[in-house]
Amino acid sequence: MSDIPPLEAEIRRLIEAAGPITVAQYMSLCLTHPKHGYYVTRDPLGATGDFTTAPEISQMFGELIGLWMASVWKQMGSPENVRVVELGPGRCTMMVDALRAAQVVPGFRAATVIHLVEISPVLQMQQFEALSGISVPVHWHTSIEQVPAGPLIVLANEFFDALPVHQAVKYKDGWHERTVDIASNGNLVFNVAAEPIAHFEGTLPKQLRAAPLGALYEWRTDFTGMEIGRRISHSNGAALVIDYGHAQSDAGDTFQAVGRHAFADPLAAPGLADLTAHVDFQALGVAVSSMGARVHGPVTQAEFLERLGIMTRAAALMAGANRSDVATIELALSRLTGHGRTAMGDLFKAIAFADPKIGPLPGFNA
Ligand code: SAH
Repeated sequence: MSDIPPLEAEIRRLIEAAGPITVAQYMSLCLTHPKHGYYVTRDPLGATGDFTTAPEISQMFGELIGLWMASVWKQMGSPENVRVVELGPGRCTMMVDALRAAQVVPGFRAATVIHLVEISPVLQMQQFEALSGISVPVHWHTSIEQVPAGPLIVLANEFFDALPVHQAVKYKDGWHERTVDIASNGNLVFNVAAEPIAHFEGTLPKQLRAAPLGALYEWRTDFTGMEIGRRISHSNGAALVIDYGHAQSDAGDTFQAVGRHAFADPLAAPGLADLTAHVDFQALGVAVSSMGARVHGPVTQAEFLERLGIMTRAAALMAGANRSDVATIELALSRLTGHGRTAMGDLFKAIAFADPKIGPLPGFNA
């Protein structure tokens, strides 16, 4: 086994010793294993990395998020201290653009303390550098539970899709959890647990209870969602989550590997490719609202950005730009708000959560 990469060797030993692991355990090991996890060992973003994200496509994205959070801060009653918490900030591009744009709201920057929740030491270093010229205090954490109590605004772009997902397949005798096992030819393969999950069907959203045999359902244990809900409903706050996924819980296998901007087999290279699954916004809404927070949306990313004024911002940037920059801005606009499979406008959704005392939020009402 000497030519097998170290994480794959460890996963095989684990399965040989203790039996198949769940898809969620596999995903968690691949992404966040403390030594060999995908996010722990590299910066996956940008043209030379494995994938790109909305804030990396254009400054307009972060700027609009900045205006969103500053106006939500005003709706919160302009608290003197606000924790701006970003989950999985990547290169901090969104935060830098957001803070610059939010300066137009008097008092917001002075009230802000930034809390970044980031598991990757490589990305923490990049975040430190990206924010080094900014005169706002910054703290790092590896989970939201570590952020001190108090009024807060939580931001998460392309974070929840990276959280481990469980899968189950429907058989005659019930739903069986999907596992990762070793096939007789020695390759990692998907399998299912021998026993069905007890009383599972009753816990599913209504539309899935009549799912046909063979249907596959994905779910996450939403501790982060519940923690967001608990904090914003107890100490004045709001959260904005943007990600790809479905507005309503649905059946279907969305577990995938993304390497070098293309889709790959999620079992082929553990720890060497990004693994993701779509976000189930209905389930996330249930988790956050179960702790007392109010749900706003979801709306599509296109609707959200258009309501926040992306067209006006693009026109302002284009007015002062040369021809090649105008083309770049037009292209960014169509990637962020365009429809269809190759653009982000429909596939990505925005959902917000807030203290029920806070009224309608920007971007969520036509
Ligand atoms: N929000 C950024 C980066 C998205 S990539 C952007 O839009 O560009 C996902 C980010 O979440 C990375 O920073 C990754 O290191 C971080 N991450 C993934 N799983 C995590 C976890 N369990 N806890 C904390 N951070 C995590």
